[in-house]
Amino acid sequence: MTDSGPDADGEDEAQPELCDLCGTVVSDGSESYALVKDSSAIHAVDPRFDGARMVVACSPEHLRELVEEYARRPFVEAELWAGKIDRVMLQHPSGAIRYSELLEETGLTPDQLEAGVTWKNEDYLRWREQFGGDGPEPSS
Ligand SMILES: [Zn+2]
Repeated sequence: MTDSGPDADGEDEAQPELCDLCGTVVSDGSESYALVKDSSAIHAVDPRFDGARMVVACSPEHLRELVEEYARRPFVEAELWAGKIDRVMLQHPSGAIRYSELLEETGLTPDQLEAGVTWKNEDYLRWREQFGGDGPEPSS
């Protein structure tokens, strides 16, 4: 949830890459890349790249494993919409944005917007459940 998209650090070609599967550092340019579908991937500025993540691997074998791993993950549209809402909110740090502007800037329909907000709330509750308490007892 903290990374900002496929090309967040794509500017600097001299940087060694880390294999997304095993963490091996690849600094000799032999890494492989693939674009995978990921509903938690939101591009920093360009909505056209939302839902796609660039993965990097140390070898074609690891790249294949990564691609298969992402292919098995559910693509949650509400998560994607929530990410679009987050991006727009980041561009309005004061939080002052009208509903109509939020619709226009996210490019979502009212239904999608609502689903995205609901997903964000549920995500917050999941987060609280996982990290917020120190007991196994459910809060509700
Ligand atoms: Zn690897």
